[in-house]
Amino acid sequence: MSRSSSLKATLGIFYIIVAVTIIITQYNIHFSSMEVTPVRTDHRDGRFYVYLDHTLNFGARQDVPTHTSWDAPIIWEGMFDPDLHDQTHFEANSSVALAVFAVGRYLEFYLHNFLTSAEKHFMLGLSVTYYVFTDYPEKVPKMELGPWRSMKVLQVEKHPRWQDVSMMRMKTLAEFIESDIRHHCNYVFCFDVDQVFTGRFGSEALGDSVALLHAHFYTLPQHRFTYERRPTSQAFLETGDFYYHAALFGGSWENMKNLTEACLAGIMEDKKNKVEAVWHDESHLNKYYWLHKPTRVLSPEYCWDRRLYDINIWVTRLVWVKKHYRQTRV
Ligand code: UDP
Ligand code: MN
Repeated sequence: MSRSSSLKATLGIFYIIVAVTIIITQYNIHFSSMEVTPVRTDHRDGRFYVYLDHTLNFGARQDVPTHTSWDAPIIWEGMFDPDLHDQTHFEANSSVALAVFAVGRYLEFYLHNFLTSAEKHFMLGLSVTYYVFTDYPEKVPKMELGPWRSMKVLQVEKHPRWQDVSMMRMKTLAEFIESDIRHHCNYVFCFDVDQVFTGRFGSEALGDSVALLHAHFYTLPQHRFTYERRPTSQAFLETGDFYYHAALFGGSWENMKNLTEACLAGIMEDKKNKVEAVWHDESHLNKYYWLHKPTRVLSPEYCWDRRLYDINIWVTRLVWVKKHYRQTRV
């Protein structure tokens, strides 16, 4: 090779390296400042679903789905700026009701750890009211709460069957939202008590209608979902979007009132027809979210089962605790 042609070859390689570097840099700048505009796709029930949220970076996670077919965000670690969300909700004076039921022996097994962990991780910086529903108010642990946080302990009857305790949460909640919660809080979340917070569960989870992807089902195909399959039940579902977990559900008090009333109506109609949905309130909840799409979906980070392993779960915010069914379901 002559001297001039080897010089040309070197220059050529140099130009290629420069061009590739420019392309990569531009791509990264574009990626990190990207404002995603999801496409409007869902017209199924004659309505338009568009839930653009410019405070979320939908492209930040390429490994998992970050929005639904009706453009509700699915919240994963890395998609949101916690401070930005907290500031926005602080300025909007957002207040949150956390409703939890601890009836029968669930109180002694789970409530203390649930509440102390919520004090460390749940909606810090916002105004939070715990609504603790129990048949034994005097057994509820006395706790010192953080600033802007308070607790109301409310007595409920203990239904003899655990299935009814779980399902009738819908009735108690519907009534309390109307008589109390709606006068004090913008948002309402209902949590199972058999879990503990382990990481930030913050204002990024707030929305008009919030549903949770079930840790055991989010990677499975539709036909494996355990929807109620008998047409005789009001919870009957042939197909759906996801399998949602009833271990927590939430939203604005208006939507939560609708949701609890609708689920209760289904449960009572089933009782009249002597049928009980396979997964009780969870089956009715799945039916509700099929008919009324949630506006925000929480990834399984928000309720993880530590017996599972998934490389895409970067953080856990709430985890299942060991179930003591033999002692609690008496
Ligand atoms: N629950 C309760 N006492 C009962 C049955 C249920 O307090 O006897 C409440 C409690 O908050 C519990 C929730 O209802 O977490 C749902 O029941 P469970 O957690 O047993 O359902 P699973 O998580 O096993 O589906
Ligand atoms: Mn539970």
